[in-house]
Amino acid sequence: MQIVRDVAGVRAAIAEARAAAAAPLRVGLVPTMGAFHEGHLSLIRAARTSCDLVVVWLFVNPTQFNDAADLTGYPRDEARDAELATAAGADLLFAPEVAEVYPDGYATTITVSGVADVLEGSHRPGHFAGVATVVAKMLNMVQPDVAFFGAKDAQQVAVVRRMITDLNLPVALEVCPTVREPDGLAMSSRNVHLNPDDRRRATALSRGLFSAQAAAEQGERSADVLRTIITAELAAADLSAEYIAVVDPSTFAPIDELDGPALVALAVPVGPVRLIDNLEVAL
Ligand code: AMP
Repeated sequence: MQIVRDVAGVRAAIAEARAAAAAPLRVGLVPTMGAFHEGHLSLIRAARTSCDLVVVWLFVNPTQFNDAADLTGYPRDEARDAELATAAGADLLFAPEVAEVYPDGYATTITVSGVADVLEGSHRPGHFAGVATVVAKMLNMVQPDVAFFGAKDAQQVAVVRRMITDLNLPVALEVCPTVREPDGLAMSSRNVHLNPDDRRRATALSRGLFSAQAAAEQGERSADVLRTIITAELAAADLSAEYIAVVDPSTFAPIDELDGPALVALAVPVGPVRLIDNLEVAL
């Protein structure tokens, strides 16, 4: 696996691979902020399975952090990430410096309305503008045929999908399922900051989501009832949510009564970490 630091380098490497290939290459991009876990590796493996050239983007994007301490404390270990990415089948690791992505004078931001305004959008002002802008930039830098995202960040997927449609970006989106620890906790780079007690309490998020899913499968239509089920599960672990929302999976418009698939999404502070998780539920 080759490590590349600049846009010219990544474009040259991809152009070279395309030129050397007998047939058109399918190029896959896996956008990440590093500190790899099985969630990231599942995306890289999915890209390896369906693409000829797999590019992993590793960049802790400062513009999507609304909390300075979260950015400073974000776990980073490029050498370990490079080893794991190689083993998972990546061909190129594109790990630019901040100045390569946001050179002096940088002044453009992409703002997605609607789906980006609620939940994570309202609790983390500026977050999705940072995400949309950096994703648009990396899609332009790499020009992949397909980009791989995790369902763990369901609202991010909805925002990116909206932007790709609205801006006619020529890329397909592939969404891979959330990878969980054996006890249900969704894998996240920030989980390393949980102490053993927080780590144990954090399992209440997925327990609540799975209980709500089971209730919906048994015919519960009321979003309020689903929220109450999750609230109780969190309270039993001495946790309380920033939000628990039942929404349309693509628009993130609120749903009061289920009549088809819905997404239950939540954000919960656990010790020093703010965890998010979600699950699709259906009657
Ligand atoms: P991040 O490095 O946290 O920005 O995540 C990079 C990509 O990995 C995003 O598309 C995430 O949705 C995805 N991802 C993060 N955690 C998981 C997980 N537990 N399962 C599946 N995908 C994940």
